[in-house]
Amino acid sequence: MVFINISVREIKVLIGVIMKVVIVGGGWAGCAAAVIASKHGAEVTILERTDMLLGTGLVGGIMRNNGRFTAAEEMIAMGAGELFILIDQNSPFQNINLPAHKNAYIYNAIKIEDIVRSYLQKLGVVVKYQSRMIDVNLSGSQIISVKVNNCSSDNDISGDAFIDATGSGGPMANCRKYGNGCAMCILRCPTFGGRVSLSEKSGIKEIPLISSGEIGGMSGSCKLVKDSLSKEIVSELNKKGVVIVPIPEKLKNNSNITQLLKSKSCQQYTHPAYKDNIILINTGMAKMMMPYFPLHMLRQIRGFENVRYEDPYAGSVGNSIRYVSAPPRDNKLKVRDIYNLFCAGEKAGACIGHTEAICTGSLAGYNAVQLLRNENLLTIPDKLAVGNFISYSNEQMQKSDKSGIKCTFSGSVYFEHMKTNELYLTDAEMIRKKVAALGMSNIMK
Ligand SMILES: Cc1cc2nc3c(=O)[nH]c(=O)nc-3n(C[C@H](O)[C@H](O)[C@H](O)COP(=O)(O)OP(=O)(O)OC[C@H]3O[C@@H](n4cnc5c(N)ncnc54)[C@H](O)[C@@H]3O)c2cc1C
Repeated sequence: MVFINISVREIKVLIGVIMKVVIVGGGWAGCAAAVIASKHGAEVTILERTDMLLGTGLVGGIMRNNGRFTAAEEMIAMGAGELFILIDQNSPFQNINLPAHKNAYIYNAIKIEDIVRSYLQKLGVVVKYQSRMIDVNLSGSQIISVKVNNCSSDNDISGDAFIDATGSGGPMANCRKYGNGCAMCILRCPTFGGRVSLSEKSGIKEIPLISSGEIGGMSGSCKLVKDSLSKEIVSELNKKGVVIVPIPEKLKNNSNITQLLKSKSCQQYTHPAYKDNIILINTGMAKMMMPYFPLHMLRQIRGFENVRYEDPYAGSVGNSIRYVSAPPRDNKLKVRDIYNLFCAGEKAGACIGHTEAICTGSLAGYNAVQLLRNENLLTIPDKLAVGNFISYSNEQMQKSDKSGIKCTFSGSVYFEHMKTNELYLTDAEMIRKKVAALGMSNIMK
């Protein structure tokens, strides 16, 4: 007689009765992965090192601008549109036009976290806050559990499949090495401890993300306290969602400004309008499309005399550094060499944006469940913008000549690539038909 040493739980996992997916990082990528994995029957736990979900999404807000419209509609057509629909429903400003960015939707960055938290709760997703993954237990090339520090103690959290959605911002050492030091951003490393990469802890050598010869990039926007602006600016912001204020010549020629604009990671905002003007967007806060700006200079602009920063607190001197490295992965978002590890969002390479995080998060969540069901992992076809983006950003990350670029549907090189390759569509019905013709309708539903 042959005895097989296998637990009841392992049998249940093998026959697909229990599938436990552990997601490290509760930004947009982690939340999207959780939605799809739980919809497909997995028990899902998100480990989040801070006290809130959404990570850098707490200080963002711009959706559906340029190629992001196509990507969102493709995801809806593929049956993975829940978060896009939820965000649309909670975007007080819709179809607003910014310089070089058409038809943007702006969500309320103050209210959105509560909305997503309640939605995940309804789906039965367990979110463990102030739970920072600090180490990994491996058996061969498989992750068995992760070690989590939650204030007072360390615990092991086991799972069947894992998703690295830890983003790329922080720890403080990166902001010191590649930026101007800790600017006290929303990631709040001094309080909650810096980001720890799940892939790196699993022994994976991450690829440095280098574009234009430089590692990483500085976050491209600051938030101002709305009430610290003049009544006229606040009233226009509330009415139109966007305010454009020219920067006076005496400040524009200042070398500090040229220098600070060079450091921006968001190449989609290199349009001259973002250099010549202070562009404010109403996200509940007044989002300023500049990586940072010396406060004493900002206060010389009419309407900004009493202005204060809301994020980062030290917006006078710098902002968070992101996109330093990412794990090698395939276009199914499986991390190379670890059997049950996927990656999403900024951790999937030089992918900038909420839309980009939700698209990759959804695919990672779907494929984590496919793996546990012993089914084929999904690759989104290259003919769709989302599939093409995933493979294109992978190629950029692998470039050995250090010429890789950061990718976003919303502008710069990848948006141009979308247009020249007929991937950019603005008609939702046409997008649905294209998705159907490729046999992808509701594939992730
Ligand atoms: C200031 C700013 C403004 C932006 N504005 C926009 C915008 O308007 N529109 C847009 O589309 N994009 C915007 N972006 C970019 C966008 O926010 C991100 O690209 C996207 O949201 C990244 O999502 P993510 O889930 O991959 O990573 P993150 O948002 O970085 O989330 C990662 C999460 O993982 C957690 N984490 C990290 N390590 C651990 C660990 N070891 N254990 C547990 N948890 C961990 C972090 O606390 C964090 O919550 C902005 C970014 C910044 C910084």
